[in-house]
Amino acid sequence: MYLTHLECPRCGREHDAGKPQNLCDCGSPLFARYDLAAVAEVVTPERFGLRPADLWRYRELLPVADPGHVTTLGEGWTPLWRAPAYGAEIGIPDLLVKDEGLTPTGSFKARGAAVGVSRARELGVERIAMPTNGNAGAAWATYATRAGLGATIVMPQDAPTICRRECVAAGADLRLVDGLISDAGRHVARLVADAGGALFDAGTLREPYRLEGKKTMGYEIVEQLGWQVPDVIVYPAGGGVGLIGIHKALHELRELGWITDRLPRLVAVQSTGCAPIVRAFAAGAERAEPWADAHTVAFGITVPAPLGDELILTALRESAGTALAVADEDLLADLRGFAAREGLLLCPEGAACLTAARQLRAGGWIRAGERVVVLNTGAGLKYPDSVDVGGLPVLSPMSGR
Ligand SMILES: *Cc1c(COP(=O)(O)O)cnc(C)c1O
Ligand SMILES: [Zn+2]
Repeated sequence: MYLTHLECPRCGREHDAGKPQNLCDCGSPLFARYDLAAVAEVVTPERFGLRPADLWRYRELLPVADPGHVTTLGEGWTPLWRAPAYGAEIGIPDLLVKDEGLTPTGSFKARGAAVGVSRARELGVERIAMPTNGNAGAAWATYATRAGLGATIVMPQDAPTICRRECVAAGADLRLVDGLISDAGRHVARLVADAGGALFDAGTLREPYRLEGKKTMGYEIVEQLGWQVPDVIVYPAGGGVGLIGIHKALHELRELGWITDRLPRLVAVQSTGCAPIVRAFAAGAERAEPWADAHTVAFGITVPAPLGDELILTALRESAGTALAVADEDLLADLRGFAAREGLLLCPEGAACLTAARQLRAGGWIRAGERVVVLNTGAGLKYPDSVDVGGLPVLSPMSGR
């Protein structure tokens, strides 16, 4: 294993990666750091193509020492689809959709869960707890059970019911809260404090390895494009783990000498009903203020006070990116428009990225001919209500065979 230590991106303090860790004393999430010079000596980019089609193909850049501790359901290496019909219509002929809907548990949260659970198990954790908007809870409950760990999951009662069912099916201790993910977070903090070390807080960015799982999307996009970077990557930002992770991955690839290009411009997409990052970005602020009365159909990005606000804003500015809020009615229209042209049913969060790409192209921020990758972070099948099928004619049965 090439993991050397954990580092605080805010105050620079180093932490021991050999035991379970949460936040730095200064309150910032921690980053896993590797001996990249040593990695560059043992593996070259061409080697990855010979390995299994999952995220563990990047094992030198992941934090699990013993392969026997890897808990996997085949997550990662999702397809990067061309979308020529829809792309041409919005003026982005080179539009690509990375389809995380094919990931186990139906969302890209499985990447973070696979790596986070595997490392937690390796470090001797026996039970994890977390607040969730649904998909993270479903993924972590699934992987925890698979790894022989217990899971306590707290989610808003309005979260998609399928996620609730996934947690219950996986045998998790599921609690519902009348409120938002931030309210669920306060319940988890209490449970963890009361458990006196028996419960490990695996909430978004509160442990360093979920990020490592999600960063593999960045490696995959680059490898799938023949070790080239696209011009723009559009991401639906809730807690922002995927965006921070892709940014970290790109920096690692550059340090490894595997990409030399300038980095892609990263775009954080939020909903007009919950846009703390967009507001902070527009104001030039370093931190985001909590968003009041958060509400959107894109439940995965309903995060009123993301813990990683500073890291998301840094990634956007460093990459010359931007942040944009889109309305529910627009993202639902693009979800339908995309499915009608490309045949693929996206999740609302993925559709929000299309709306953002369309608007950024119309406004000239995305230029003609640029290659744009949009993340579809979950399976459209998990959100059946995003397509209205009321009013369809019902035929009478016909006699005969
Ligand atoms: C969690 C989630 C997001 C947001 O991911 P973050 O890492 O919290 O920014 C986007 N889409 C879906 C479907 C999700 O489940
Ligand atoms: Zn610190």
